[in-house]
Amino acid sequence: MLEPQRIRLASLPTPLVKLERLSRELGGAELWMKRDDLTGLEVSGNKVRKLEYVVADALASDCDTLVTEGTAQSNHCRATAAVCARLGLGCRLLLRPEAPDRPQGNHLLDVLFGAETRSFSRADLTANRQRIVAETLAELKAAGRVPRWTPAGSSEPLGCWGYIHGMNELAGQLDGAGIDECDIVLAVSSGGTHAGTVLGALLNRRDRWRVWAVPVSDDVAYHKANVGQLCRDAIARYDLPVEYRDNSLHLIDGYVGEGYSIPYATALEALRLVARTEAIVLDPVYTAKAFCAVLDGVRSKRFGFERPVVFLHTGGIFSDFAWPEVLLGGV
Ligand SMILES: *Cc1c(COP(=O)(O)O)cnc(C)c1O
Repeated sequence: MLEPQRIRLASLPTPLVKLERLSRELGGAELWMKRDDLTGLEVSGNKVRKLEYVVADALASDCDTLVTEGTAQSNHCRATAAVCARLGLGCRLLLRPEAPDRPQGNHLLDVLFGAETRSFSRADLTANRQRIVAETLAELKAAGRVPRWTPAGSSEPLGCWGYIHGMNELAGQLDGAGIDECDIVLAVSSGGTHAGTVLGALLNRRDRWRVWAVPVSDDVAYHKANVGQLCRDAIARYDLPVEYRDNSLHLIDGYVGEGYSIPYATALEALRLVARTEAIVLDPVYTAKAFCAVLDGVRSKRFGFERPVVFLHTGGIFSDFAWPEVLLGGV
Protein backbone atom coordinates (compact mmCIF):
# COMPACT_ATOMS: atom_id res chain seq x y z
CA MET A 1 0.00 0.00 0.00
CA LEU A 2 1.35 3.43 -0.99
CA GLU A 3 0.16 5.97 1.55
CA PRO A 4 0.55 9.50 0.19
CA GLN A 5 1.85 12.45 2.18
CA ARG A 6 -0.49 14.52 4.28
CA ILE A 7 -0.09 17.92 5.86
CA ARG A 8 -1.95 18.82 9.02
CA LEU A 9 -4.69 21.36 8.46
CA ALA A 10 -7.63 19.99 10.44
CA SER A 11 -8.10 19.83 14.21
CA LEU A 12 -8.14 16.07 14.69
CA PRO A 13 -9.47 13.85 16.07
CA THR A 14 -12.98 15.29 15.90
CA PRO A 15 -15.30 14.24 18.74
CA LEU A 16 -17.59 11.23 18.54
CA VAL A 17 -20.63 12.15 20.66
CA LYS A 18 -23.75 10.37 21.81
CA LEU A 19 -26.92 12.36 21.11
CA GLU A 20 -28.63 11.70 24.42
CA ARG A 21 -31.44 14.23 24.29
CA LEU A 22 -32.35 13.52 20.70
CA SER A 23 -32.24 9.76 21.42
CA ARG A 24 -34.75 10.23 24.23
CA GLU A 25 -37.01 12.23 21.96
CA LEU A 26 -36.85 9.36 19.43
CA GLY A 27 -37.92 6.57 21.74
CA GLY A 28 -34.49 5.52 22.95
CA ALA A 29 -32.72 4.82 19.66
CA GLU A 30 -28.93 4.78 20.04
CA LEU A 31 -27.69 7.75 18.02
CA TRP A 32 -24.11 8.94 17.71
CA MET A 33 -22.54 11.74 15.72
CA LYS A 34 -19.00 12.05 14.38
CA ARG A 35 -18.46 15.80 14.56
CA ASP A 36 -16.53 16.50 11.38
CA ASP A 37 -18.21 19.88 11.38
CA LEU A 38 -15.55 20.56 14.04
CA THR A 39 -12.43 19.98 11.94
CA GLY A 40 -11.77 23.70 12.37
CA LEU A 41 -13.67 26.97 11.96
CA GLU A 42 -12.64 28.63 8.71
CA VAL A 43 -11.45 25.29 7.33
CA SER A 44 -14.24 23.23 8.89
CA GLY A 45 -16.17 20.31 7.45
CA ASN A 46 -15.30 17.20 5.48
CA LYS A 47 -13.36 18.96 2.73
CA VAL A 48 -10.37 19.80 4.90
CA ARG A 49 -9.63 16.09 5.43
CA LYS A 50 -9.30 15.67 1.66
CA LEU A 51 -7.34 18.91 1.30
CA GLU A 52 -4.73 17.62 3.74
CA TYR A 53 -3.63 15.22 1.00
CA VAL A 54 -4.32 17.36 -2.06
CA VAL A 55 -2.43 20.35 -0.65
CA ALA A 56 0.51 18.14 0.41
CA ASP A 57 0.71 16.98 -3.21
CA ALA A 58 0.47 20.55 -4.51
CA LEU A 59 3.29 21.73 -2.21
CA ALA A 60 5.46 18.73 -3.12
CA SER A 61 5.14 19.70 -6.79
CA ASP A 62 5.95 23.37 -6.07
CA CYS A 63 2.49 24.61 -6.99
CA ASP A 64 1.66 28.11 -5.83
CA THR A 65 -2.03 28.28 -6.75
CA LEU A 66 -4.99 25.94 -6.24
CA VAL A 67 -7.85 25.98 -8.73
CA THR A 68 -11.23 24.40 -8.05
CA GLU A 69 -14.95 24.80 -8.68
CA GLY A 70 -18.25 24.89 -6.82
CA THR A 71 -21.33 26.97 -6.13
CA ALA A 72 -21.21 30.34 -4.36
CA GLN A 73 -22.22 28.48 -1.16
CA SER A 74 -19.66 25.72 -1.72
CA ASN A 75 -18.09 24.56 1.53
CA HIS A 76 -15.29 23.07 -0.53
CA CYS A 77 -14.44 26.39 -2.22
CA ARG A 78 -14.48 28.20 1.13
CA ALA A 79 -12.25 25.59 2.79
CA THR A 80 -9.85 25.70 -0.18
CA ALA A 81 -9.74 29.51 -0.05
CA ALA A 82 -9.03 29.40 3.71
CA VAL A 83 -6.25 26.84 3.36
CA CYS A 84 -4.64 28.84 0.55
CA ALA A 85 -4.73 32.04 2.60
CA ARG A 86 -3.21 30.22 5.56
CA LEU A 87 -0.38 28.75 3.49
CA GLY A 88 0.25 31.79 1.29
CA LEU A 89 -0.99 30.10 -1.88
CA GLY A 90 -3.11 31.68 -4.60
CA CYS A 91 -6.68 30.42 -4.99
CA ARG A 92 -8.80 30.61 -8.13
CA LEU A 93 -12.44 29.56 -7.77
CA LEU A 94 -14.70 28.78 -10.72
CA LEU A 95 -18.17 29.50 -9.36
CA ARG A 96 -21.46 28.34 -10.85
CA PRO A 97 -24.01 29.69 -11.29
CA GLU A 98 -22.95 33.35 -11.28
CA ALA A 99 -22.29 34.43 -7.72
CA PRO A 100 -24.65 37.10 -6.37
CA ASP A 101 -23.37 40.70 -6.22
CA ARG A 102 -23.60 40.83 -2.44
CA PRO A 103 -21.50 37.96 -1.06
CA GLN A 104 -22.96 36.06 1.89
CA GLY A 105 -22.19 32.87 3.81
CA ASN A 106 -19.35 30.85 2.29
CA HIS A 107 -18.95 33.27 -0.62
CA LEU A 108 -18.37 36.17 1.78
CA LEU A 109 -15.54 34.15 3.34
CA ASP A 110 -14.07 33.30 -0.10
CA VAL A 111 -13.78 37.03 -0.74
CA LEU A 112 -12.30 37.78 2.70
CA PHE A 113 -9.69 35.02 2.22
CA GLY A 114 -8.59 36.73 -0.98
CA ALA A 115 -9.66 34.05 -3.45
CA GLU A 116 -9.93 35.15 -7.08
CA THR A 117 -13.35 34.15 -8.31
CA ARG A 118 -14.70 33.75 -11.83
CA SER A 119 -18.40 33.12 -12.44
CA PHE A 120 -20.00 30.87 -15.03
CA SER A 121 -23.51 29.76 -15.74
CA ARG A 122 -24.09 26.20 -14.57
CA ALA A 123 -24.80 25.07 -18.14
CA ASP A 124 -21.61 26.66 -19.49
CA LEU A 125 -19.29 25.19 -16.86
CA THR A 126 -20.91 21.76 -17.09
CA ALA A 127 -20.78 21.62 -20.89
CA ASN A 128 -17.33 23.19 -21.29
CA ARG A 129 -15.54 22.18 -18.10
CA GLN A 130 -12.45 20.72 -19.77
CA ARG A 131 -11.89 23.75 -21.95
CA ILE A 132 -12.58 26.26 -19.15
CA VAL A 133 -10.22 24.48 -16.75
CA ALA A 134 -7.51 24.19 -19.43
CA GLU A 135 -7.83 27.88 -20.25
CA THR A 136 -7.71 28.85 -16.58
CA LEU A 137 -4.56 26.79 -16.00
CA ALA A 138 -2.96 28.21 -19.17
CA GLU A 139 -3.78 31.76 -18.13
CA LEU A 140 -2.22 31.23 -14.69
CA LYS A 141 0.89 29.60 -16.20
CA ALA A 142 1.27 32.48 -18.65
CA ALA A 143 1.30 34.78 -15.61
CA GLY A 144 4.22 32.78 -14.19
CA ARG A 145 2.23 30.80 -11.67
CA VAL A 146 2.23 27.06 -11.02
CA PRO A 147 -1.41 26.00 -10.62
CA ARG A 148 -2.90 22.69 -9.47
CA TRP A 149 -6.46 21.76 -10.37
CA THR A 150 -8.60 19.80 -7.95
CA PRO A 151 -12.15 18.84 -8.98
CA ALA A 152 -15.36 19.73 -7.13
CA GLY A 153 -15.15 18.54 -3.55
CA SER A 154 -11.53 17.39 -4.13
CA SER A 155 -13.14 14.09 -5.06
CA GLU A 156 -10.09 12.75 -6.86
CA PRO A 157 -8.47 9.44 -5.85
CA LEU A 158 -5.93 11.27 -3.67
CA GLY A 159 -8.75 13.08 -1.83
CA CYS A 160 -10.26 9.71 -0.82
CA TRP A 161 -7.41 9.40 1.69
CA GLY A 162 -9.09 12.05 3.81
CA TYR A 163 -11.76 9.59 4.86
CA ILE A 164 -9.53 6.54 4.83
CA HIS A 165 -7.66 8.41 7.54
CA GLY A 166 -10.97 9.55 9.05
CA MET A 167 -12.14 5.93 9.37
CA ASN A 168 -8.92 4.92 11.13
CA GLU A 169 -9.79 7.65 13.61
CA LEU A 170 -13.42 6.53 13.94
CA ALA A 171 -12.40 2.87 14.37
CA GLY A 172 -10.36 3.80 17.45
CA GLN A 173 -13.19 5.89 18.87
CA LEU A 174 -15.85 3.20 18.32
CA ASP A 175 -13.54 0.61 19.91
CA GLY A 176 -13.20 2.95 22.88
CA ALA A 177 -16.99 3.20 23.14
CA GLY A 178 -17.32 -0.60 22.94
CA ILE A 179 -19.18 -0.47 19.62
CA ASP A 180 -18.12 -3.10 17.09
CA GLU A 181 -21.23 -3.10 14.96
CA CYS A 182 -23.08 -0.05 13.63
CA ASP A 183 -24.69 1.77 10.73
CA ILE A 184 -22.83 4.87 9.50
CA VAL A 185 -24.85 7.46 7.55
CA LEU A 186 -23.48 10.34 5.48
CA ALA A 187 -24.46 12.70 2.66
CA VAL A 188 -23.01 12.07 -0.81
CA SER A 189 -22.54 14.58 -3.60
CA SER A 190 -19.12 14.65 -5.29
CA GLY A 191 -18.38 11.22 -3.80
CA GLY A 192 -14.93 11.41 -2.22
CA THR A 193 -16.25 11.21 1.32
CA HIS A 194 -18.33 8.12 0.57
CA ALA A 195 -15.49 6.43 -1.33
CA GLY A 196 -12.97 7.14 1.44
CA THR A 197 -15.38 5.96 4.13
CA VAL A 198 -16.06 2.66 2.36
CA LEU A 199 -12.36 2.07 1.64
CA GLY A 200 -11.44 3.04 5.20
CA ALA A 201 -13.97 0.57 6.63
CA LEU A 202 -12.61 -2.19 4.35
CA LEU A 203 -8.96 -1.41 5.20
CA ASN A 204 -9.83 -1.51 8.91
CA ARG A 205 -11.61 -4.85 8.30
CA ARG A 206 -14.81 -3.53 9.86
CA ASP A 207 -17.24 -5.85 8.14
CA ARG A 208 -19.76 -5.21 10.91
CA TRP A 209 -20.02 -1.57 9.93
CA ARG A 210 -22.45 -0.70 7.20
CA VAL A 211 -21.90 2.61 5.44
CA TRP A 212 -25.06 4.23 4.04
CA ALA A 213 -24.74 7.19 1.70
CA VAL A 214 -27.68 9.52 1.13
CA PRO A 215 -27.58 11.32 -2.24
CA VAL A 216 -28.29 15.06 -1.99
CA SER A 217 -27.76 15.59 -5.73
CA ASP A 218 -28.16 13.46 -8.88
CA ASP A 219 -29.53 9.92 -8.44
CA VAL A 220 -28.50 6.56 -7.02
CA ALA A 221 -27.27 5.18 -10.36
CA TYR A 222 -25.01 8.21 -10.86
CA HIS A 223 -23.48 7.90 -7.39
CA LYS A 224 -22.96 4.13 -7.68
CA ALA A 225 -21.04 4.67 -10.90
CA ASN A 226 -19.12 7.73 -9.70
CA VAL A 227 -18.18 6.46 -6.23
CA GLY A 228 -17.46 2.99 -7.64
CA GLN A 229 -15.03 4.50 -10.12
CA LEU A 230 -13.35 6.58 -7.41
CA CYS A 231 -12.93 3.48 -5.23
CA ARG A 232 -11.48 1.43 -8.08
CA ASP A 233 -9.12 4.25 -9.13
CA ALA A 234 -7.89 4.75 -5.56
CA ILE A 235 -7.38 0.98 -5.06
CA ALA A 236 -5.35 0.76 -8.28
CA ARG A 237 -3.31 3.91 -7.73
CA TYR A 238 -2.40 3.24 -4.08
CA ASP A 239 -2.37 -0.54 -4.21
CA LEU A 240 -4.93 -0.83 -1.42
CA PRO A 241 -5.23 -4.36 0.02
CA VAL A 242 -9.04 -4.53 0.01
CA GLU A 243 -11.68 -6.76 -1.51
CA TYR A 244 -13.93 -4.16 -3.03
CA ARG A 245 -17.07 -5.08 -4.93
CA ASP A 246 -19.69 -2.77 -6.30
CA ASN A 247 -22.14 -4.24 -3.80
CA SER A 248 -19.95 -2.68 -1.07
CA LEU A 249 -21.86 0.55 -1.82
CA HIS A 250 -25.20 1.15 -0.09
CA LEU A 251 -27.27 4.18 -0.99
CA ILE A 252 -30.55 5.45 0.43
CA ASP A 253 -32.78 6.96 -2.22
CA GLY A 254 -35.43 9.61 -1.79
CA TYR A 255 -33.79 12.60 -0.08
CA VAL A 256 -32.58 14.81 -2.94
CA GLY A 257 -35.91 16.62 -3.11
CA GLU A 258 -36.28 18.78 -6.17
CA GLY A 259 -32.56 19.02 -6.67
CA TYR A 260 -29.16 19.90 -5.28
CA SER A 261 -29.34 22.77 -2.78
CA ILE A 262 -33.11 23.13 -3.12
CA PRO A 263 -34.40 22.85 0.45
CA TYR A 264 -37.58 21.05 1.53
CA ALA A 265 -39.75 21.16 4.63
CA THR A 266 -38.85 17.85 6.33
CA ALA A 267 -35.12 18.58 6.00
CA LEU A 268 -35.64 21.97 7.66
CA GLU A 269 -37.64 20.28 10.42
CA ALA A 270 -34.74 17.86 10.94
CA LEU A 271 -32.35 20.81 11.12
CA ARG A 272 -34.49 22.57 13.72
CA LEU A 273 -34.97 19.37 15.75
CA VAL A 274 -31.23 18.72 16.04
CA ALA A 275 -30.56 22.38 16.84
CA ARG A 276 -33.22 22.46 19.56
CA THR A 277 -32.31 19.17 21.23
CA GLU A 278 -28.52 19.11 20.85
CA ALA A 279 -27.38 22.65 19.91
CA ILE A 280 -25.78 21.16 16.80
CA VAL A 281 -26.40 22.91 13.49
CA LEU A 282 -26.97 21.02 10.23
CA ASP A 283 -27.19 22.71 6.82
CA PRO A 284 -30.01 22.66 4.27
CA VAL A 285 -27.88 21.49 1.31
CA TYR A 286 -26.26 18.32 2.68
CA THR A 287 -26.53 17.29 6.29
CA ALA A 288 -30.19 18.13 6.98
CA LYS A 289 -31.28 16.05 3.96
CA ALA A 290 -29.06 13.13 4.97
CA PHE A 291 -30.26 13.37 8.57
CA CYS A 292 -33.84 12.98 7.33
CA ALA A 293 -32.83 9.48 6.25
CA VAL A 294 -31.56 8.80 9.78
CA LEU A 295 -34.81 10.06 11.33
CA ASP A 296 -36.99 8.03 8.96
CA GLY A 297 -34.82 4.97 9.64
CA VAL A 298 -35.14 5.45 13.40
CA ARG A 299 -38.91 6.00 13.22
CA SER A 300 -39.34 2.79 11.25
CA LYS A 301 -36.89 0.99 13.62
CA ARG A 302 -34.39 0.20 10.85
CA PHE A 303 -31.72 2.35 12.52
CA GLY A 304 -30.68 2.74 16.13
CA PHE A 305 -32.40 -0.17 17.87
CA GLU A 306 -30.60 -3.36 16.92
CA ARG A 307 -27.29 -1.52 16.75
CA PRO A 308 -26.15 2.09 17.06
CA VAL A 309 -26.38 4.50 14.16
CA VAL A 310 -23.53 6.99 13.65
CA PHE A 311 -24.21 10.10 11.59
CA LEU A 312 -21.19 11.69 9.96
CA HIS A 313 -21.71 15.43 10.35
CA THR A 314 -19.79 16.81 7.37
CA GLY A 315 -20.20 20.52 8.20
CA GLY A 316 -21.79 23.30 6.19
CA ILE A 317 -22.79 25.80 8.87
CA PHE A 318 -21.80 28.93 6.91
CA SER A 319 -24.34 28.27 4.18
CA ASP A 320 -27.06 28.55 6.86
CA PHE A 321 -26.37 32.27 7.01
CA ALA A 322 -27.18 32.63 3.32
CA TRP A 323 -30.72 31.29 3.91
CA PRO A 324 -32.15 32.90 7.06
CA GLU A 325 -35.76 33.07 5.92
CA VAL A 326 -35.69 29.44 4.74
CA LEU A 327 -34.36 28.19 8.10
CA LEU A 328 -36.87 30.17 10.09
CA GLY A 329 -40.03 29.34 8.29
CA GLY A 330 -41.40 28.02 5.08
CA VAL A 331 -39.45 26.92 2.07
C1 LIG B 1 -19.24 18.49 0.18
C2 LIG B 1 -20.11 18.18 1.33
C3 LIG B 1 -20.69 16.90 1.47
C4 LIG B 1 -20.56 15.81 0.43
O1 LIG B 1 -19.28 15.26 0.37
P1 LIG B 1 -18.75 14.72 -1.03
O2 LIG B 1 -17.40 14.19 -0.72
O3 LIG B 1 -18.74 15.90 -1.96
O4 LIG B 1 -19.68 13.68 -1.53
C5 LIG B 1 -21.45 16.65 2.60
N1 LIG B 1 -21.67 17.62 3.52
C6 LIG B 1 -21.14 18.84 3.41
C7 LIG B 1 -21.47 19.84 4.46
C8 LIG B 1 -20.34 19.17 2.31
O5 LIG B 1 -19.84 20.41 2.21
